Amino acid sequence: MSRAETEIQKFKRSGNDEDKVFYQAMQEVIYSIAPLLESDEIYTRHAILDRLVVPDRIIKFKVSWLDDNGRIQVNTGYRVQFNNSLGPYKGGLRFHPSVNEGILKFLGFEQILKNSLTGLPIGGAKGGSDFDPKGKSDFEVMKFCSSFMVELHKYIGPRMDVPAGDIGVGAREIGYLFGEYKKITSTYEGVLTGKPFMFGGSLMRPEATGYGVVYFTQAMLEIEKKEPLKGKICTVSGAGNVALHTIEKLYELGAIPVSCTDSRGTIYDSRGVDLELLKDIKFARRTSLEEYMKVHPEAKYISTEEYPEGGHAVWDIPCYAAFPCATQNELTEVDAQNLIANGCESVSEGANMPSTPEAIELFLSHKICFAPAKAANAGGVVVSSFEMSQNAAMSKWSFEKVDQRLKITMEQICKRVALTAKDYGVEGNYVDGANIAGFKKVADAMIAEGI
Ligand code: NDP
Repeated sequence: MSRAETEIQKFKRSGNDEDKVFYQAMQEVIYSIAPLLESDEIYTRHAILDRLVVPDRIIKFKVSWLDDNGRIQVNTGYRVQFNNSLGPYKGGLRFHPSVNEGILKFLGFEQILKNSLTGLPIGGAKGGSDFDPKGKSDFEVMKFCSSFMVELHKYIGPRMDVPAGDIGVGAREIGYLFGEYKKITSTYEGVLTGKPFMFGGSLMRPEATGYGVVYFTQAMLEIEKKEPLKGKICTVSGAGNVALHTIEKLYELGAIPVSCTDSRGTIYDSRGVDLELLKDIKFARRTSLEEYMKVHPEAKYISTEEYPEGGHAVWDIPCYAAFPCATQNELTEVDAQNLIANGCESVSEGANMPSTPEAIELFLSHKICFAPAKAANAGGVVVSSFEMSQNAAMSKWSFEKVDQRLKITMEQICKRVALTAKDYGVEGNYVDGANIAGFKKVADAMIAEGI
């Protein structure tokens, strides 16, 4: 039995819930790449899969900080450096109470293949903490970030490991982290991406993931000879960075995004959601979506508890295209059944692994155009890599230049995935196409670099 298979068996016996999402991600890849392993024994001979599923290292550390009441708080920080065969470790930091080693292993593992698909020289990593920025003052967030960086700075560097943002980590947090890194190391270098523009950030980094998802979807619909998004009803989940910029790009293309969600509930506004209001609620005031109803009482708010267990209100809204952009496993089998029954023709993952394996199975068997996260949401890391290039060259690219390059890169990823699927006899299956194309590139580099 191979190491990868042994790991899965071990996990199944242990019943360790923390690692569930990691094994879910691993199992999908193992299943997808079977035709590649069968067609070329070199990957098995070099035990690539077995080496790939074990992170290079996991760094775990204590983060103590002082809250506004003068009380000492303690959180746990992590950095999972998974694989650097293609370039320096690269992947976001997540600050959310649910963060644990298993979630970060899943995200880091996905990141290896995602970064490989971009064609850019970046390896895969992920990190974060169980710290919850929600309800904290700016001062508390700053103190936490400083403390976090006191440990993290030992393991990162522009040619070693370049973290970025993720859930709970936006420009504010990246700014504080960068400030502390600078103070400790006395260097001004591109060690983090997603920085505010005034001190080395790239234009369009905040928009990149959301815009990228929509560019990918347009390209996929064209390849699959489906109607474009213009004039179509779209549903979006989440109300953070990825969701709101997905909504923004959908509007730009003439689509009608009618929903968004946060951890407490769903907004359904059949005329199209009010994006400026959402930005004010979520980015400026950092509060709950219920606030939306004060300005638009004609819209519908469905609280999370109100909807029957097993499904989510947002996926029960009829749409042409769905964009899950909140978090992992937020789109279940029941949700997939509802989407299909309501005539949905395209699902694009803005969040990382938002669809459960059962939901994906249904989409694929019903010939729904399905864009998996590791391909569709690569826009963020693509522009992060552009930020690294700009920092290294001490230059600034215009918004138009970044946007144009992002669009081209997303279209290239889409074509690469579609072609790979065709080459391996699974035409139209973007899950297998993405896994095979992403895996093959990393695997070839690992073979060339030796054990
Ligand atoms: P944000 O923190 O900006 O927003 C996350 C949104 O999802 C919020 O609306 C939040 O609700 C909601 N959410 C988070 N956790 C849960 C949960 N357990 N249940 C229900 N809702 C939840 O994060 P991002 O927009 O940056 O990230 C969203 C997804 O996209 C993640 O999967 C992330 O890994 C992925 N991603 C992000 C990239 C980026 O560039 N930012 C790049 C590639 C992938 P609330 O407001 O109530 O907290």
